Amino acid sequence: MYKYPLFEINYGEEEKKSIIKTLDSKWISTGPKCEEFENLFSKKNNVKFSLTTSSCTSSLHMSLIALDIKQGDEILVPSLTFSATVNIIKYMGAKPIFCDIISESNLNIDPLEIERKITKKSKAIIVMHYAGFPCEMEKILEITRRHKLYLIEDAAHAPLSEFKGKKLGSFGDIGTFSFFSNKNIAIGEGGMLVTNNSEIYEKAKLIRSHGMTTLSYARYKGHATEYDIKMLGYNYRMDDIRASLGIIQLKKLKKDIFKRERLRETYIELLKNNSKVIIPFIDNKNFVSNYIFPIVLKNSTKLLRDKVRMKLNDDRIQTSIHYPPVHKFSIYKEDYVDLPITDYVSDNQITLPMHSKLKTSDIDFIVSKLSNLLKDEKQKKD
Ligand SMILES: *Cc1c(COP(=O)(O)O)cnc(C)c1O
Repeated sequence: MYKYPLFEINYGEEEKKSIIKTLDSKWISTGPKCEEFENLFSKKNNVKFSLTTSSCTSSLHMSLIALDIKQGDEILVPSLTFSATVNIIKYMGAKPIFCDIISESNLNIDPLEIERKITKKSKAIIVMHYAGFPCEMEKILEITRRHKLYLIEDAAHAPLSEFKGKKLGSFGDIGTFSFFSNKNIAIGEGGMLVTNNSEIYEKAKLIRSHGMTTLSYARYKGHATEYDIKMLGYNYRMDDIRASLGIIQLKKLKKDIFKRERLRETYIELLKNNSKVIIPFIDNKNFVSNYIFPIVLKNSTKLLRDKVRMKLNDDRIQTSIHYPPVHKFSIYKEDYVDLPITDYVSDNQITLPMHSKLKTSDIDFIVSKLSNLLKDEKQKKD
């Protein structure tokens, strides 16, 4: 067991009570709790429509179906993301066009790369807001308008995060969120699709439930007795048990993020003068989720990074890598392109523990261990 895990779930009595209440209500599948979660999510994110789903992956898949993406269409996407962001492009028989990130200190997709790689076949851009830090939304929106491309925001890391006061996920045609068990809102498995477009919303609702024109809750309530299948859909629904967890988690989120903000400040204070460490997004002024705390080692190698991680592991400090680059996975061989900055970052990045139960003294310990390791490495080289 790690003494300093990467992440800890922030649950209390409220979560338990809420689940038991839902069980006692005798309605456990998609119903009033999902609707309540959706309404609260729309309000907090200032979007017109939110739709609970089974995961962020299914929300992303639904997005491409709703936007009518066809075989052979090209979708511009970062490689420094979780594989699901890209896998869903393959679900559609479309082609991922991998774009590099901006730099070692801004790990988001580079608008110049997007611009360079647009062709007649380009249909959409999928951005991913790394750790909740916003992509260059003004530049990206300008590109989508000029080239008439759809924009999907993979906001799995970014609930309540903002760019210049506007919520991430609300800039594009569609935004998607994850409530997987290690995300800011943790419910086990689950996701949300948000949009301001009523047509997309109506289509997404059909896709979520077999293409059926009514949900079983509406039939149970006596509002409907028949249904039609209007298009090929899936079962991508959330259930009310998870939704009741999500409501409580969402209500607690802002306070949780304030704690994370202070922890990030502590990390920065202790690391900012370390010449071997780059702190990505160090100048960020936006309100962000701080889903994870990433660092990038400067003038380093994969070998060194892996050694540092192993030694931290010996001190029972859990670390991770966000991410192994998607364009290097076997199934993406035919889509491979050189992405030098993505390659450097994925070889030299380390994710340190970040969650609201961490204490300042924990961060002191983690950073002192890390700093000593990096100092030792330098002396050995000299
Ligand atoms: C977690 C994650 C996903 C997948 O979310 P699920 O809810 O597990 O499907 C997609 N994209 C990113 C960037 C993620 O971090």
